[in-house]
Amino acid sequence: MFLHQRLSLSVLALLLAACASGPAVGRSETAKEPAVADAPYVAGAAMTKERQGRVTPESALKILRDGNGRFLSGKMVKRDLREQVKITGHGQFPFASVVSCIDSRAAPEVVFDLGVGDVFTARVAGNVVNKDILGSLEYASKVAGSRLIVVLGHSHCGAVKGVCDNVKMGNLTTLLEKLKPAVAAVPEDGSPRNSKNEAYVEHVAEANVKLTVRQILEDSPILRELVEQRKLMVVGAMLDVETGKVEFMEMSHPAEKVATHESLHL
Ligand SMILES: [Zn+2]
Repeated sequence: MFLHQRLSLSVLALLLAACASGPAVGRSETAKEPAVADAPYVAGAAMTKERQGRVTPESALKILRDGNGRFLSGKMVKRDLREQVKITGHGQFPFASVVSCIDSRAAPEVVFDLGVGDVFTARVAGNVVNKDILGSLEYASKVAGSRLIVVLGHSHCGAVKGVCDNVKMGNLTTLLEKLKPAVAAVPEDGSPRNSKNEAYVEHVAEANVKLTVRQILEDSPILRELVEQRKLMVVGAMLDVETGKVEFMEMSHPAEKVATHESLHL
């Protein structure tokens, strides 16, 4: 009973947040009530074409915030993943894309309490992008209808520590080159600029997320156009691996940022 009431209230909040119009929202005891039927996302249920069609960039962000809230409180939704496989097997309708580090603690489906078919994920050490990942995001957003891109950095990131210490090793050297602009973006304050300085490492990680958001907007005309049309939002976020909490970076709608190119003050 409580869970259903909570679900109805969260659905109501979602609808209000998205300014959606539709049938009146009522308290629901079954999944067939209008409140659930009209929701862009029902935690535990598979994404469908109809639900994806109701997702806005803002509601997609709220779905992730709510999911992280469930994860933090230990109230993750019980999912029948095999049933979700059956439903999504002939077509996927994810509402968002997440660019995350390969770090074993930074799995988007886990920290946002998501299921099969909910989000596209691109994972690479240091959550950077290149043309291949930009192409993947263009597919996810332009072709497959995903409404939000989250660049998810995290605390205690080995890749960030590596660039802070100017590590050189095999193919990692080339990858870490992509993180160097984040090092340059953190101003000198007299404290040590190496991985032993935890505050410095966190500042570089945050700068890297902001620069990656900027790079996505600047290097992909397709994604930039979707943002300008308000069909897509690109946001940064940081995961605290000690708590599991994800903090989204405050920013107004990136559409204005794209127009001015005065985005993401570092
Ligand atoms: Zn990492």
